[in-house]
Amino acid sequence: MPISTPVTEILGIRIPVVQGGMQWVGLPVLVAAVSEAGGLGVLTALTQPNPDALRAAIRETRKLTSKPFGVNITLLPSINPPDYEGYARAAVEEGVRVFETAGNNPGPLIKYFKSQNCVVIHKCTTVRHAKSAQKLGVDILSIDGFECAGHPGEEDIGGLVLLARAAEELKIPYIASGGVADGRGLAAVLALGASGANMGTRFMCTVESPIHQNIKEKIVSAKETDTVHIFRSLRNTARVFKNKVATEVVAIEKRPGGAKFEDIRELVSGQRGKVVYESGDPDYGVWSAGVTVGLIHDIPTCKVLLDRMEREVENTVAGLGKVVVH
Ligand code: NAD
Repeated sequence: MPISTPVTEILGIRIPVVQGGMQWVGLPVLVAAVSEAGGLGVLTALTQPNPDALRAAIRETRKLTSKPFGVNITLLPSINPPDYEGYARAAVEEGVRVFETAGNNPGPLIKYFKSQNCVVIHKCTTVRHAKSAQKLGVDILSIDGFECAGHPGEEDIGGLVLLARAAEELKIPYIASGGVADGRGLAAVLALGASGANMGTRFMCTVESPIHQNIKEKIVSAKETDTVHIFRSLRNTARVFKNKVATEVVAIEKRPGGAKFEDIRELVSGQRGKVVYESGDPDYGVWSAGVTVGLIHDIPTCKVLLDRMEREVENTVAGLGKVVVH
């Protein structure tokens, strides 16, 4: 039975699951596989070295799927500040119609995409920011709870309360980001008022995910306690896999007097994280992972994963009627 929600209607997809923007992971092969499986695949713009390379990635994705897919642009502190506008213009000119925006000061980018009649999914970590984005005219919000990989904001509100608060305050549809890796999680966020889910870590661990097999296996063997926050002291908190480098970064941040970004720059650079995915050495650099690592026990294709989630949602909802209160 298809799960039809405002998000499946707006995006023209079969199952209300959006693949989150993931640095070094949101590449054409994975994006096309998610879209072909009935979700929304999302290319990560900043994974491409420049706007022209993003154009090529969009064309490559189109060769692999005729279904809708999106492009993510994340605005966060960066070692080499990217040409955000250039990436945005390139994707619009290539005919992309769905964008996921995230990070700081997204207003100008959202206005640009809306002026081009695009659908904008804006990811944010507080109800306050969600309401501002709603005012700017975004179509869908992606509400990122404490469980998420990458940047959860600084307020530490778990998904259970954050999503229910979103239901109280928002007028437009929203998806849940962080904490969802199976159909039980998808059913739960639908129950809280969301119209779907955003999944990142779960998609890292699929057959089509373009990262080294060792890292996928590392995720499968990980527990929910195997992630850690770095950059807490810099107010740019990021949840990453708890490996040697991340542990070292946290120790530097806790030194008396604290740390400046320069003290950890070499350890945390995205270029080192990229090598983790290419070489399969999980300790080479920091790499994003959500607490859902504790829920991931296999490496399915995207199609097997999304078909299974659809059945799990049905079974979960059917099972609710059988709850007995003693
Ligand atoms: P990078 O090598 O530029 O930086 C590595 C990490 O350090 C990033 O998390 C970044 O936010 C942080 N950082 C950089 N300068 C900082 C500063 N002055 N103060 C505090 N923190 C700082 O990052 P990258 O891996 O090449 O990624 C480029 C951009 O994409 C960054 O803004 C990053 O946050 C963002 N990103 C996007 C996604 C996504 O899914 N779209 C995922 C991860 C990172």
